[in-house]
Amino acid sequence: MDNFLLQAGAWCVKYGDEMEKTLFQKIADKEIPSTMVYEDDLCVAFRDITPVAPVHVLLVPRKPIPSIGAATAEDAELLGHLMLKVGEIARAEGLAEGGYRTVLNTGVDGGQTVPHLHIHIIGGRSMQWPPG
Ligand code: 5GP
Repeated sequence: MDNFLLQAGAWCVKYGDEMEKTLFQKIADKEIPSTMVYEDDLCVAFRDITPVAPVHVLLVPRKPIPSIGAATAEDAELLGHLMLKVGEIARAEGLAEGGYRTVLNTGVDGGQTVPHLHIHIIGGRSMQWPPG
């Protein structure tokens, strides 16, 4: 297990086997307020609190998978569901014509700050490449 996953695990373990919810689970469960743009029984999508573009939505599975690198074959259907929701949410946000960027930051070098898998859907302006 890499350092990031160990760290993520440590953040999730409260006392003994009792798991503390991740920040994004608390948002999904409406314990922390957010501007929700989509939700179903498998995932939620809400506006990023610090948007980097006119549209910046985070698409998050309810299941607290720490990162894309921690997903397993058991998660295949859920990951497929998320991929399809990206297009739906982008269309609903008016991004389909101009295009948009999807980002999965993973681990320390990837710039991941919340250890719960999430897909950034970013649009409404022209993007640069390579990313910083
Ligand atoms: P990461 O850096 O892990 O790829 O992305 C985490 C994202 O979560 C960041 O873009 C950050 O702005 C966003 N974020 C962190 N805390 C909150 C919060 O409490 N509410 C919302 N809506 N977004 C958050």
